[in-house]
Amino acid sequence: MLFEEKIPEKLIRNDGLRLDGRKIDELRPIKFEVGVLSQADGSAYVEQGRNKIIAAVYGPRELHPKHLALQDRALLRCLYRMATFSVSERKSPAPSRREAELSTIITQALQPAIFLEYYPRTSIDVYIEIIEADGGTRCASINAASLALADAGIPLRDLVAACAVGKADGQIILDLNDLEDKYGEADMPMAMLYRRGDVTLLQMDGQFTIDEFNKALELGKTGISKIYQLQKETLRNKYLSIRDEVADESEVRIEISKEVEEDE
Ligand code: UDP
Repeated sequence: MLFEEKIPEKLIRNDGLRLDGRKIDELRPIKFEVGVLSQADGSAYVEQGRNKIIAAVYGPRELHPKHLALQDRALLRCLYRMATFSVSERKSPAPSRREAELSTIITQALQPAIFLEYYPRTSIDVYIEIIEADGGTRCASINAASLALADAGIPLRDLVAACAVGKADGQIILDLNDLEDKYGEADMPMAMLYRRGDVTLLQMDGQFTIDEFNKALELGKTGISKIYQLQKETLRNKYLSIRDEVADESEVRIEISKEVEEDE
């Protein structure tokens, strides 16, 4: 039986809140985690609303096929894939044009952040798996990939943070979910190297007046700044926990060596 989605009459309720209870300028609940995969050089897990995404980074490493190698820098390759079970109607496992397009725009959004020139003739491969999708997966994928690159210890000019803004029932809204993405009047995914102020992704689907566009851009920047802070906090916490682990281990080592000395 095919799942039939109920088309909402309105996306903003009479009390001014959105159908999921958020204010118009509110992000969905976000969870970031790094170092979630032991095989990858760097990895991250992201939940943004009901989106669930894993990013894994391999490299810099020897590039295959070799003829793709760039003499003056590393080649960044991102692969965005949606699991068949990630959406309500089964996604075909065959690679789609949408996945190819998103892989390209994610690569373009991340590229300016990486010191690719440090690693000529190598590749940096970023694999992004969408486990569950609920609108805005390209932005959440950029957030995940950026964290995974940092987790891999790849030198970055800045973290890349991304978020979509859009319009629903005439109001400018932040961080669209699937329903708002599908039935809203506009959707504008954005990514930035926030500290540097560089915009590395700006797409738009739908219509804005110039005033609405400017308002959306500002709201997008506010959302991105919050995501950027959360990314930094996630990385800082990881390094603090490593530091604590190392400190605990050295305390144990000191204890053991004291015991050995006493025995002697
Ligand atoms: N989607 C879907 N089936 C697909 C592709 C997408 O149901 O094959 C849903 C999914 O929830 C996705 C949303 O449509 O997040 C919006 O997709 P879009 O192409 O706008 O990209 P996104 O907003 O995820 O970056």
